[in-house]
Amino acid sequence: MVDSRYILTLYPLNNKVKEKVCVKNMQLSDSIREIKGIGEKSEKLFAKLGISTVEELLFFYPREYEIVENIRPINEVKEGHIVVVSGTLGSKPRLQYVRNLKIVSTFLRDASGQLEVTWFNMPFIMKTLRMGTRYIMRGRVINKNGRYRLQQPKLLSEEEYHKLLKKLQPVYPLTAGLTNHAVSKAVGSALKEVDLTGDYLPLEMRKKYNLILRKQAVHAIHFPKDKEEYMQARRRLVFEEFFFFALALHQMKQGKHQKPSPYEMNTFELPEKLMDRLPFDLTDGQKRAWGDIRQDLTSSVVMNRLIQGDVGSGKTIVAVLALLACVENGHQGAIMVPTEVLAEQHLKTFQEYLGPFDIRVDLLVGSMTASQKRRVYEALEMGMTDIVIGTHALIQEKVHYKDLALVVTDEQHRFGVRQREEFSQKGLEPHMLVMSATPIPRTLAIILYGDLDISVIDVMPSDRLPIKNCVVGTSYRPKAYEFIEAQVRQGHQVYIICPMVEESENMEAENVTDYTDTIKGILSPSIRVECLHGKMKAGAKNDIMERFAAGEIDVLVSTTVIEVGINVPNATVMMVENAERFGLAQLHQLRGRVGRGSAQSYCIFMAGNSSRETMERLNILGGSNDGFYVAEQDLKLRGPGDLFGIRQSGELNFALADIYQDAGILKDANEAAAMYTKDDILNLCKKYEGLRKRIMAYTDDIFL
Ligand code: ADP
Ligand code: MG
Repeated sequence: MVDSRYILTLYPLNNKVKEKVCVKNMQLSDSIREIKGIGEKSEKLFAKLGISTVEELLFFYPREYEIVENIRPINEVKEGHIVVVSGTLGSKPRLQYVRNLKIVSTFLRDASGQLEVTWFNMPFIMKTLRMGTRYIMRGRVINKNGRYRLQQPKLLSEEEYHKLLKKLQPVYPLTAGLTNHAVSKAVGSALKEVDLTGDYLPLEMRKKYNLILRKQAVHAIHFPKDKEEYMQARRRLVFEEFFFFALALHQMKQGKHQKPSPYEMNTFELPEKLMDRLPFDLTDGQKRAWGDIRQDLTSSVVMNRLIQGDVGSGKTIVAVLALLACVENGHQGAIMVPTEVLAEQHLKTFQEYLGPFDIRVDLLVGSMTASQKRRVYEALEMGMTDIVIGTHALIQEKVHYKDLALVVTDEQHRFGVRQREEFSQKGLEPHMLVMSATPIPRTLAIILYGDLDISVIDVMPSDRLPIKNCVVGTSYRPKAYEFIEAQVRQGHQVYIICPMVEESENMEAENVTDYTDTIKGILSPSIRVECLHGKMKAGAKNDIMERFAAGEIDVLVSTTVIEVGINVPNATVMMVENAERFGLAQLHQLRGRVGRGSAQSYCIFMAGNSSRETMERLNILGGSNDGFYVAEQDLKLRGPGDLFGIRQSGELNFALADIYQDAGILKDANEAAAMYTKDDILNLCKKYEGLRKRIMAYTDDIFL
């Protein structure tokens, strides 16, 4: 049978020849295999990125856009910049094997000077490199032991260069084996054949909030003609994302309103005892948060509460108190965190605090062996485990709890609403506590966490000295190392953060291990330096973190894998290399890793370039330790919708939207969503394919 989507047109040509023309009409729900040029192999690669349907491909947005700039003389290139240079080879290319990497290196020479060039794991490039030929290369300039080096550049033909010049080039977050070009091509073919007419946002809404058509937006986000068009596309798609989020949240709020709780709690002796034993007094903010929680647990309705407090404000102890109360009243509790390292750390903290009480605390994380996991599953199901600490592993289907009365999500900004909902569905209407360090104004918090009550911890423990900050250029590096050395001699510990290397995962590891080797040579041999990066196995990462926490490592060189929640109060220096490549919110989180004890702590932001924008932005951090102030100033500085502004954070798992940058759009979308009833939403879903799925990304409350 002929697929009804294939319209077969027969028409005569010269009255003799007959030709068939197929007009294919692709559906959003079709497999990407329907797209021309995507075979089994690409299908597998796309699957790694979570893309299996045409819709998922079209909603796979570029991470950023690059503009190809004019060719620059080699003596004018700057560290950290992506540049285009042109010249001939200054030396015969060499292929070397270093660790498990194949490295090709040579020099590129123009009238002004020469620059070292390297490629990782691209030995085949040897064949295209010839002495005497003129090349145009585009890549990032890095500083390698004091010398500039062009890393992993692309070779451009004269024609390609002129075609690309000043155009917006989408850059997709890729996986090994898949190129930008391949993604672009697939998106291009899909856009030609898929039907995107029809718009689920009604005309009045689009007019009121200044939104372009969905069809235009999807096209332009992948292939923007210019900045203007990109901005419009982005506005529309961000609005959409927030709109569906807000629709889901409004429904959830109504569902949750005053739900009776099966777990009324009325004795709080153990938390009182624990508070008496603490080596410190709770701050006023902590006391208030605990008071709110206690009241919620005592009342006859389900608790849904957010504890908002800046990094280091002491949220963990509040969670411990709540979970302890839950156990005292005869139930189970669970706390979910975004990383295994953090789960391990919490396990220790909880064991320390809860040691004097007869309470069983277990760990559940992905890297445990099948039999270890099975043991915890059994203990949870039998009710032998009182408190379980874990990662996403806690919400896997296999996990059943006997009597789960309280779920706590730590670092909620790292999770989506969906995961928090799934977590609470593991019990029978359990109380819910979520904790977040996102510094956002109350008006935004009320929208983003609209279904929750909010307690704010707005004071830091009183034994803290404010962190001393400095923003410096790379010439300050030797001084920074001396300072680090002195701090270590005083018995303190140090973090050094290198940025992620986006171009390839191998290079990221290379970067961090190289850096580690370099500073091992610079610092005294007695200083113990280790490194940590995303490519390491979970077990190895935990091991390094444990040794750092135990004081067996002095200097930890790491990518941002350590960003979330790590607590080593003896660490007093945080040095961030290429700080300009991070978002301010992320830098603030990184800074939060120090200043956690009573000793004076320091944060060194090392800027890879000293442009005015970079310095202005970093100086915001240098000038204040208040995360809320930092976020606000950052917004003021660049204004909403800044095209090339670094995305602040993937907070709350939005694909495109950024809660800081797009705060204005969030308010609009929330206002628009408030007008929709459950029936409106159901009708809309009937009309548009894929819509239901988009709303269900947040909750299925609406459809129950
Ligand atoms: P965060 O809010 O970032 O999760 P943590 O709960 O990890 O912060 O607490 C940071 C550090 O502060 C921990 O070492 C903790 O023991 C300590 N701390 C917590 N509350 C207080 C307090 N009231 N006084 C002194 N130190 C505290
Ligand atoms: Mg924490």
